[in-house]
Amino acid sequence: IIRMENVNKWYGQFHVLRDINLEVAAGERIVICGPSGSGKSTLIRCINALESHQEGTIIVDGTQLTDNLKKVEQVRKNVGMVFQHFNLFPHLTVLENLTLGPVWVLKQSQAEAQARAMQTLERVRIPDQANKFPGQISGGQQQRVAIARSLCMNPKVLLFDEPTSALDPEMVKEVLDVMVNLASESGVTMLCVTHEMGFARKVADRVVFMDQGSIVEQNTPDAFFDHPQHERTRHFLDQIL
Ligand code: ATP
Ligand code: MG
Repeated sequence: IIRMENVNKWYGQFHVLRDINLEVAAGERIVICGPSGSGKSTLIRCINALESHQEGTIIVDGTQLTDNLKKVEQVRKNVGMVFQHFNLFPHLTVLENLTLGPVWVLKQSQAEAQARAMQTLERVRIPDQANKFPGQISGGQQQRVAIARSLCMNPKVLLFDEPTSALDPEMVKEVLDVMVNLASESGVTMLCVTHEMGFARKVADRVVFMDQGSIVEQNTPDAFFDHPQHERTRHFLDQIL
């Protein structure tokens, strides 16, 4: 569902993505890890065209990402993203955060969007928070709202950029639990930047390790953690495990 071929990107003089080749099949779960500054966020932001690349091709669900805005819109309809800092609309209630996209982009009726939003809130186990504002609920609950908001758009692909790293430790588990359930219950393709290696072992079909803008190694979680092939991977794993 995603194909990146020889993708290169620069920020000014800085070569941030180097010859990235990555293929993801529909329904696959990929965990991306690597040191700070290695280009993980940049890579996944290229997949929904939040960042543009200068060389190579990126094809998402049959659509090649170019500067054509129509195509960008089409890809973003199919690709949801969950950020480290939730990025909810603070002046809208939880329910309104969830219905905005479906009503305006998917052209659902208010009633339909609300019914689906409530179902989705049940799925992330916070239906009782529907009428609160983001500032009135915990970080873990806000992140579950952000996940629910993405799900309400029926994405084919969900991108997560360190969804638990801004949370207090006691809230990490509730968000990871929701993500684990999502992986087991839905067919959505997931690409998740995270250093939660328990999650990677449980959920990932493949772990991708990046360093200095390159994909250094990728493997099944067991092989990746138990038999890392490269010195840089071993060094990274020594630091986080
Ligand atoms: P982290 O684990 O800290 O989130 P990351 O692997 O996600 O790191 P990126 O955010 O993709 O890394 O950034 C890769 C490199 O590109 C970093 O050195 C960063 O300073 C640089 N960079 C990121 N965004 C920009 C930008 N908009 N302009 C210039 N340089 C940038
Ligand atoms: Mg990042």
